[in-house]
Amino acid sequence: MLTTDILIIGSGISGLFFAMKTAQKRPDLSIVIMTKEAARNTNTQLAQGGIAVVTDLIKDSFNKHIHDTLRSGGGLCDREIVNMVITQAPERLKELIEIGTSFDKDEKGRWNLGLEGGHSQHRILHHKDSSGLEIERKLLKIIRKMPNIELWENHMVIDLNTETRKNKTTCTGVFFYDKKHNRIKYIRTRTVVLSTGGCGQLFENTTNPKIATGDGLAMAARAGAEIVDMQYIQFHPTALYTSKENPLFLISEAVRGFGAHIVNEDKKRFLFKYDIRGELATRDMVSSAISKELRLSGKDHVYLDCRHLNKAEFYANFPIIAAHCNELGIKPEKDLIPIVPAAHYQCGGIKVDQNGTTAIPNLYAIGECARTGLHGKNRLASNSLLEALVFAHQASENVDRTIAGFLFSNRILIPKFPKAHQVDDYLAFEILKKELQKLVTAFYTNEERDADLTFEKIKELHNYAVSLTQTHEITIPFIEFSNMIAVSLIIVKQCKASNKEMC
Ligand SMILES: Cc1cc2nc3c(=O)[nH]c(=O)nc-3n(C[C@H](O)[C@H](O)[C@H](O)COP(=O)(O)OP(=O)(O)OC[C@H]3O[C@@H](n4cnc5c(N)ncnc54)[C@H](O)[C@@H]3O)c2cc1C
Repeated sequence: MLTTDILIIGSGISGLFFAMKTAQKRPDLSIVIMTKEAARNTNTQLAQGGIAVVTDLIKDSFNKHIHDTLRSGGGLCDREIVNMVITQAPERLKELIEIGTSFDKDEKGRWNLGLEGGHSQHRILHHKDSSGLEIERKLLKIIRKMPNIELWENHMVIDLNTETRKNKTTCTGVFFYDKKHNRIKYIRTRTVVLSTGGCGQLFENTTNPKIATGDGLAMAARAGAEIVDMQYIQFHPTALYTSKENPLFLISEAVRGFGAHIVNEDKKRFLFKYDIRGELATRDMVSSAISKELRLSGKDHVYLDCRHLNKAEFYANFPIIAAHCNELGIKPEKDLIPIVPAAHYQCGGIKVDQNGTTAIPNLYAIGECARTGLHGKNRLASNSLLEALVFAHQASENVDRTIAGFLFSNRILIPKFPKAHQVDDYLAFEILKKELQKLVTAFYTNEERDADLTFEKIKELHNYAVSLTQTHEITIPFIEFSNMIAVSLIIVKQCKASNKEMC
């Protein structure tokens, strides 16, 4: 039987950082990282703006960063968690730098700190506008060399197996789909770490890549973990508007921090009507102001105006954004850039404690799939990569302390799924996904929404999907779609329960 001491699901910043730290501390433990596509295909590698850390103790302070985070979270942050994450940030940053991650400096060798919406100080460390890619590359490079880590790409986890003895439930292994050999298999383990990212693909407009289908959250819910705050999906105000792309290309918050304006069809700035901070208000405020403006005008996008900015500096600081605009025939130095708010980040998720532990003691959730209490209603820009590092560290320490108490289960498990095969149902499920995205988006962004009706319609879609797989054979599109359905139903339920105002 396949066996590993620790199984990590996901190869983004949280999974890789956890793997690296745990492997260094515990060379006696075997670690497998599974990822459903190529290892680099993550939200992490798309992160542009950077990572928020207090490094300048003259102008800035932990208290200011704490205050900005609490303010952005709209009263729903857990203050102890906010303190823990922000005060630990410099140590975690140091560890990233020690493995060769590079962040931009000015000509005097000082950090070139960016400013983003909701931050009262320049405190964002970045690697041009490809910070996530730089971090992902360096972490992958190091973990590929570690003898006690195996990285299994193109292995999609289907479900967690749990066992309950003497009223105590533990996670004893996972069922997964080995895409290369086209087979469903089982691996037993003593600890499972979910680092599966978010669920942006539930929405029509999103900055999240195709992998972001909420799999980890759906699996955790099925296993009995608690899921909270899923009514708080963060929309990023400045996704590049094109009617055809999925995901939409992000124009980083740092561009507004650099001085770009948001203007309407008449080339007029309008954000000050809604918030005195204008372009530098938090994401929820800016997205909501744009949505209101779009409803008033009946248009489908507004614009980012960078024409007044220094062209050479703009191109030097945002080479990827500039190149992407240029490819579409948009010259930021003379053209307005069309933008629209897009689903970007799930602020809620699998409920965890300060060590990343879920309600199941040997099941951890870290990174975007977890709800730690840091973000409240609305994540402060560039706090997500930081949260992933801090909780990967906390979870790693806790696994070191507690794994001796979790032994392998001796039960032999035969995959409970009949068989795996790749039927050509990709297209059918792409159409179903679009239907689901339409339903969820309409529900989430509509003031007049009807939760019960949406719930029923989502269930109808699911029944139809089940009828498509007449023999009930498992296929990747079916698994992903079922997870998306499960997460959509949770969002609708939690929105209804909280009577949340429109985003
Ligand atoms: C365009 C963009 C820009 C961003 N910019 C910033 C920024 O500047 N600063 C910041 O702090 N945050 C930013 N964010 C948010 C941040 O990047 C993410 O929250 C963070 O990277 C999530 O990391 P993670 O480790 O949780 O998971 P991810 O990086 O999302 O990785 C998820 C992993 O899980 C795997 N997976 C999922 N389901 C399964 C399954 N069933 N089986 C096997 N594997 C599975 C995936 O294949 C992937 O490897 C940005 C996000 C986006 C989309």
